[in-house]
Amino acid sequence: MRTIFYILLFTLILPRLNAMGQYHVMVSHNYPPYHFYNTNGEMVGFNIDIIKAINNIYDNRIKISIGDWEEIVSLLDSGEIQAVAGVHYPGSSDEKYFYTRSVISTSHCFFYNSDYRSFLSVEDIRTEQRPKVVLWENDVLEHYMLSLNPNSDFIFVNNYEELFKALQREDVVCAIAQKNAGKYFAKNLNFNFVQATNDVFLERNMGFKVSSEYPELAEILNNGLEIIMANGTYQQIYDKWIREFDKPVNSWRYYIKDIIIGGIVLSLIIGILLFFNRLLKKQVRQKTKHLQHQLELNNIIRQELEIAKVRAEVSDQMKSAFLANMSHEIRTPMNGILGFSELLKSADYGSEEQSYYISLIQKSGARMLSTINNIIDISKIESGAEKLILKDLDLKQMIQEIGEFFSVEAKEKGIELVVEKGDCIHPCKIRTDEYKLHSILTNLLKNAIKFTYKGKVTINFSISETFARFAISDTGIGISKDKQEVIFNQFVRADISYSSEFEGSGLGLSITKEYVKMLGGIIWLESEPESGSTFYIEIPCKQPHSQENILSHISA
Ligand code: ADP
Repeated sequence: MRTIFYILLFTLILPRLNAMGQYHVMVSHNYPPYHFYNTNGEMVGFNIDIIKAINNIYDNRIKISIGDWEEIVSLLDSGEIQAVAGVHYPGSSDEKYFYTRSVISTSHCFFYNSDYRSFLSVEDIRTEQRPKVVLWENDVLEHYMLSLNPNSDFIFVNNYEELFKALQREDVVCAIAQKNAGKYFAKNLNFNFVQATNDVFLERNMGFKVSSEYPELAEILNNGLEIIMANGTYQQIYDKWIREFDKPVNSWRYYIKDIIIGGIVLSLIIGILLFFNRLLKKQVRQKTKHLQHQLELNNIIRQELEIAKVRAEVSDQMKSAFLANMSHEIRTPMNGILGFSELLKSADYGSEEQSYYISLIQKSGARMLSTINNIIDISKIESGAEKLILKDLDLKQMIQEIGEFFSVEAKEKGIELVVEKGDCIHPCKIRTDEYKLHSILTNLLKNAIKFTYKGKVTINFSISETFARFAISDTGIGISKDKQEVIFNQFVRADISYSSEFEGSGLGLSITKEYVKMLGGIIWLESEPESGSTFYIEIPCKQPHSQENILSHISA
């Protein structure tokens, strides 16, 4: 009975138990940080934690143990264990074994001595004449190295300690090893001079190698991996063991190329932008200048147009005024002449009446002549045809003649005409344009008599070494302050209401003012409405000696 129980136990129950999940998976003892013995003699590492995590899901169906690599391989071969962890895929299919999905991807990199160089790139190794390289005895690595630089010279080692010790030789350029393991050993062996490059190569997948007789174990491992990757456990294990060694070296030298290219591109862009900016600024400046110039021109044109407009308006007003005045000033005397000459034709009038009519015809003729003279004078002034004809003239004589001439008219109006001689050098001669001075004085005297009803009109003159001064004053109607300036303009009359009472074209004072100007003198007036006016003239002269006070009194 006892014998039957043992036979059953060994032939039926134990194999069944095994099939239910008591799988034995082994890892090699010295492959940190993936699987190794720590200083306390415990089995630790990335792959150990991965198996433990899968075990948590599958009720500890996997037994883990650690051993020498060759021993593990023969145990798997003989079927004593069912799987091995931390195996790189061979790259070809194998009928005897399954390979699970990748647990982690591993890669190699270059290690160099930071005491001898601050940076190492694949390019450095390519261009080195005969680079001395430390590496594990491994065909793949050797071929990789020779493909980089066919002149590579090798130092072969069997463990990490030897590898990094060889790096202490000054003639050694670099060592090649698995990146994470190499970094782990360098840290733990306190080889602080060991520096890894960011250039990696020989990236391979590490996973479980499972006996083909245990497909359910391969399934557990694959599914377990799937689950721990999805629930975050895998990431925790990775962060714990691998992340520290998998971080890229943060050296600016790795980015130097990018920095330089970036810098060049940026400088180019900035340069182009600056160029266009300058170009635009220049164009804007030119445009602004052009616009300002245009604006100034426009302003000038506008001002000129405004002046021209005002002139045109004034000229229009003047034209109307001229026509109105002229028609009045020509029609009135003309009517007089025609009317009275018609009367003379009849024999009904006596000689006294006839001579009266003749005098009226003469008066009208004189008025017309004066108007025509005024028109001729103003047109000559306007056209610039009027020239100065200078000669020495005896002023005293001239004034006396004018006085005598107007005394008749003054007497007729019942006005006293007084000629006053002020301080004069002797003889009373000045050099000037006789016609113009004569016109000036007769215009003023004529106006004085015309605009005076009663009282007197005085013409006063004096001559100094430099100036001849005249004052023509009257006790007439006077001129209001606001009209005193404008009466010198053409066709302007102080009060339009008396235009019918006082004959006149409104040209006399403007001709007078222009003539005074031509003689190099000035004219001004003082006037009070209802009291009278005084017109003052001062013209330059050059007269020798004599100062005589003669008061010539000519009464009308
Ligand atoms: P007019 O032919 O009308 O006299 P003027 O140019 O000689 O033209 O004079 C312009 C205006 O000035 C006159 O119409 C008149 O209103 C005023 N005026 C000129 N002289 C005198 C004056 N002595 N007394 C008052 N008003 C005067």
